[in-house]
Amino acid sequence: MAIPRIAQIQLTSSHRRQLYGIRRRALPHEGCALLLGRYIEKGLIARVVRIAEAENIARSISSFEIDPEHQYCILMAAAKEGLEQVGIYHSHPAPPTPSASDLEFMEFNPCVWVIDGIQKERFRMKAYQLWQGFLKSVGIQSISSKGR
Ligand code: ZN
Repeated sequence: MAIPRIAQIQLTSSHRRQLYGIRRRALPHEGCALLLGRYIEKGLIARVVRIAEAENIARSISSFEIDPEHQYCILMAAAKEGLEQVGIYHSHPAPPTPSASDLEFMEFNPCVWVIDGIQKERFRMKAYQLWQGFLKSVGIQSISSKGR
């Protein structure tokens, strides 16, 4: 499955609140979640429909790991709703830039990686895609939850 270069990921304000909760509950560890949705506009845009919180089984402040069996269950349930994994979310107690291990895992998970972090004492969310070996920025677009 070839995933195209994704220009934007769409989140609603309710999704942002959910991600905020996931980050907070996971402290002091990194929090993580799978972003489930659909690719629209010929794959240029990843639209998040639902967020599935996942436990960080690494219980680490500098990395995360999702239980593959749990991930499989989440993806099977999503497929029944016509959804797929369009992104992976995790939080950093540091700036929202991919770490060396993130970059390694991004190679095997070429979806959008949304990283929540702290920059200049403020929370900051950024999105990336490793596309054909290059780290690309992905825009985060806030959309209304109505009419979806
Ligand atoms: Zn990371």
